[in-house]
Amino acid sequence: MLRKLLTILLACCLLLAAQGTAMAQGGAGATARGTGGAVASVDARATQVGIDVLKAGGNAVDAAVAVMAALGFIEPYSCGIGGGGFMVIYWKATGEVITIDGRETAPLSANVDMFKDPDNPGSNLPFAPNRISNGAAVGVPGTVALWARALERYGTKSLAELLAPTIELAERGIEVDAVFAAQTEQNKARFAAFTSTAELYLVNGEAPAVGSIHQNPDLARTYRLIAEGGVRAFYQGEIAKAIVETVQNPPTVPNPPFRVISGGMTLADLSAYDAIVRRPVVTDYRGYKVYGMGLPSSGGITPAQILNLIEGYDLKNLDRAQAWHYVIEAMRLAYADRGAFLGDPEYVDVPLAGLLSKEYAAERRALIGDRAPENVADFRAKAGDPLPFQKDTSPSRTAERIEMASSDALGGSTTHLTVADKDGNVVSVTFTIESIGGSGIVVPGYGFLLNNELTDFDLADPHPNSPEPGKRPRSSMAPTIVLAPDGTVMAFGSPGGATIITTVLTIAVNLIDFGLPMDEAIAAPRISQRNTGFTQVDSKFEESEIGKALIALGQDLRGTAEIGAATGIVIYPDGSMLAAAEPVRRGGGSAMVVQPAN
Ligand code: GLU
Repeated sequence: MLRKLLTILLACCLLLAAQGTAMAQGGAGATARGTGGAVASVDARATQVGIDVLKAGGNAVDAAVAVMAALGFIEPYSCGIGGGGFMVIYWKATGEVITIDGRETAPLSANVDMFKDPDNPGSNLPFAPNRISNGAAVGVPGTVALWARALERYGTKSLAELLAPTIELAERGIEVDAVFAAQTEQNKARFAAFTSTAELYLVNGEAPAVGSIHQNPDLARTYRLIAEGGVRAFYQGEIAKAIVETVQNPPTVPNPPFRVISGGMTLADLSAYDAIVRRPVVTDYRGYKVYGMGLPSSGGITPAQILNLIEGYDLKNLDRAQAWHYVIEAMRLAYADRGAFLGDPEYVDVPLAGLLSKEYAAERRALIGDRAPENVADFRAKAGDPLPFQKDTSPSRTAERIEMASSDALGGSTTHLTVADKDGNVVSVTFTIESIGGSGIVVPGYGFLLNNELTDFDLADPHPNSPEPGKRPRSSMAPTIVLAPDGTVMAFGSPGGATIITTVLTIAVNLIDFGLPMDEAIAAPRISQRNTGFTQVDSKFEESEIGKALIALGQDLRGTAEIGAATGIVIYPDGSMLAAAEPVRRGGGSAMVVQPAN
């Protein structure tokens, strides 16, 4: 009897401990309500850095840069100065939304054969580990130029001030959490192939223990160089030289376990890098203005196309499964166009006006039936013909830049963060080093991983997204800002490669059509159809009543553990704010406000 009681007691203790861990990982801190500014990111320590900047009088752009810098240390396998990203800014004073393109560029040496297997020139290297872990996959990083461009236009604080909290954190060290330990473990063999990476992220060849301390004094020194020397220090100084040396001669162990090819990036490639201010893509959806990132990301155009298609259905009043069925079919059609037409606007004349026209959407909508296509698992939608809907037949607007300057003139696996300040300015930014752990190559002595973004190119030729010298690979990153008819502002985004678009879209539908608050829209199941036949879902949605009804409509739903890791913020017309991160996915995120509501 006593033994039985003890067993029950022990079980209760374990349960409580498990619940405590879940809370510590973000469950309790994933939603915040209040005023005065808000930050939502994947990590409480990074979110706190942003809140501190807002409290010290910084605006949303200042805080976003500081959080990005912090994530570069805390979430180094997802993002950092070795990669790139996209920022969407809502500037309250003028009501404008602008975007900054800090996407990596291919060096001038890039070409469509860049990933050919040297031993077998008829075929490409296998994707992992070979194609993602080498010098050739590394694009010229854009993050630092993006910071400089954003601060120069909108910031009130210096890079030195905004990098300072992370310099301190990187020197002091942080506790290794479960996600970081697991991601290191998954990449252990790849990291072990590079001396600099093994030194920084492995402990005697193993992943670090949860709860141990991780420091990165090299990154602290690199941030100091950037704080002192600005963009030039990164793109033209000793950091640039170190990047080029690393790309051209990856620091492998003797006889690495897989073939590591070299890249051709030069100092000239780095020096020529620009972060570009571009017009956003905007679509009107039921009176809501939905702003997203333009090319070279598909993260604004493809969601806009899906919204144009589903606007033809009264989703709110339809049976919920029927409503999601139409969304899934719209995703299928939009992804077919994405694959056929979208690429870097500096290289490809994309028929954007046609793709985004409501008339084109109406023509495409006629292809959608009330049930899934026959043999849905093998079904692939065909791209449409947007050209007759191009009102303006002159060269595409997509190449339009608002402003561009070279870094000369500047004297200068992905994560999403969302920031709002007391004045109502909002920043939605997604940035990445592509794979978890990027190329797997740390720049020796500088403490950051280089991206493998050039694997986002299509190796088909010709293709709008094939590799070309100086071109930016097509992205799916979709930092989004929505202005509602009543003045509410909503901003959100997510990591997740090509699923980013469908994650953002399901959040938008849950917010706008189904009236969920941001925290519930983020926590809700994800539904991702990418013209693959089957539809990926998470949170065991396939077993839910709606999931089963979708299957009865002929949809092929396949469950996966989790899709994306979103964050978002809402500013209501009275100025109050709701910030939200994931309660569970990727271990849970962190949302905070400057002045919490009682
Ligand atoms: N490289 C991807 C893109 O730009 C993002 C990677 C990810 O989210 O995992 O679309």
